Amino acid sequence: MDPRSALPSIDKLLRQAEARDLIAHHGRENVVDMLRRLLQARRAAAQGAAPGPEGVLAECAERLAARARPSLRPVLNLTGTVNHTNLGRALLSHRAAEAAFQAMTNATNLEYDLDRGGRGDRDSHVEELICCLTGAEAATVVNNNAAAVLLMLNTLALGREVVVSRGELVEIGGAFRVPDVMARAGCRLHEVGTTNRTHLRDFANAVNADTAAFMKVHASNYAIEGFTAEVPQADLAALARRHGIPLLIDLGSGSLLDLDAFGLPPEPTARQAIRDGADAVTFSGDKLLGGPQCGIIAGRRALVDQMRANPLKRALRVDKIILAALTATLQAHGDPDRARSEIPTLRLLTRPQGEIRALARRLCPPVRAALSGLADVAVVDCLSQIGSGARPVDLLPSAGLAFAETGAVSVACLAQAFRDLPLPVIGRIHKGRFLLDLRCLEDEAAFLDQLGQLDWGPDRRADRKATAPRRRPESGPLR
Ligand SMILES: *Cc1c(COP(=O)(O)O)cnc(C)c1O
Repeated sequence: MDPRSALPSIDKLLRQAEARDLIAHHGRENVVDMLRRLLQARRAAAQGAAPGPEGVLAECAERLAARARPSLRPVLNLTGTVNHTNLGRALLSHRAAEAAFQAMTNATNLEYDLDRGGRGDRDSHVEELICCLTGAEAATVVNNNAAAVLLMLNTLALGREVVVSRGELVEIGGAFRVPDVMARAGCRLHEVGTTNRTHLRDFANAVNADTAAFMKVHASNYAIEGFTAEVPQADLAALARRHGIPLLIDLGSGSLLDLDAFGLPPEPTARQAIRDGADAVTFSGDKLLGGPQCGIIAGRRALVDQMRANPLKRALRVDKIILAALTATLQAHGDPDRARSEIPTLRLLTRPQGEIRALARRLCPPVRAALSGLADVAVVDCLSQIGSGARPVDLLPSAGLAFAETGAVSVACLAQAFRDLPLPVIGRIHKGRFLLDLRCLEDEAAFLDQLGQLDWGPDRRADRKATAPRRRPESGPLR
């Protein structure tokens, strides 16, 4: 007899009381479909051995419950990387979130001109604000900065050459590589200079009848130190103008405020880039701007109009939710002090170390109590990263809690126990210790309230490994 026939039939399973509860919750079709798939998987795995019916209904219940829970969940980002790409980058301000909510739940004048009572343009909601903050003549918004670069290059350089310094042919997190984006945009990359040094004459010598543009890319997540030379933007702009070609700049983070004034490492602003002669600049909405995911293109009216007329714009455009959140974020930027208190990214980046230390000291005793001696907890000073393509060498003094391994619980176990909380707490492992950088913890009560639910029982650990193999989150250089 084929041992696989020892599997319980679906009908038999469905007659059990547990199954009736499941059907009441999830519907008969879902339960039958899930049981069929679980049984098939068991048959496939059995390979001669007889798999029993044990646990099929329990597994079915667990899988259906998981499917009914939201997959995308809030977490506490205590990694120390403020704008963490894997954790969703910028948190919206309350005002931006409220604006997004209104746009989501109401009809809006997205493309409707209320004065004239006719068709309007979705860019009109943000264009003037962006122009005010950058000094540009015109602006448009697309899905993200990668899309902005793609649209800009495809519009202005299709089938022609774009000259870029070899020192700026960067990869920003696995999928965005300047040469690849350029190829997909339909342009030919003309590399000049060397990795560490590029001169104005390199650009001058590269110009030919096929040259469509010069491009500068902000190196973002890496720094070249030592014997280096980069062409000052104003010089490159003058050369571009002499040849009648545009200078395009991918600024990456593209802060709209002078971060220096906040005591943060300086980042080139869109306003400086435009002032120094850029014809078009692109930057992300959810990096240092602290808004929703989008890509902003600001520059000369004639160029922006061409980009708007490109059919790709239709494929890359943003929706009303993004525009509503972006508008509120840009409005806050009108006043640097308001921006700093209202926009979480700026508030967290500028949070004083003393305040974070005080928080760490307050949290240490209750955390220690919750661990009941299973791990050593200490208040430590540490360094936060800005994240999202900011220079990795620019670190911010911070503070947090460090957990040292003891015989009872491993560091990996501790990290898992914190991830398993109802509001998962994500830390990092640093020099053999599990570290919670408290820079981004603003809701102290939410953290404290769930400490009692920490659970690092080794049995439980082993259980979950057996039943729920987890995919590790993607990690890359851009975090
Ligand atoms: C982050 C970054 C990008 C990609 O921006 P997204 O908004 O993530 O699409 C492109 N270029 C540079 C220089 C960057 O820093």
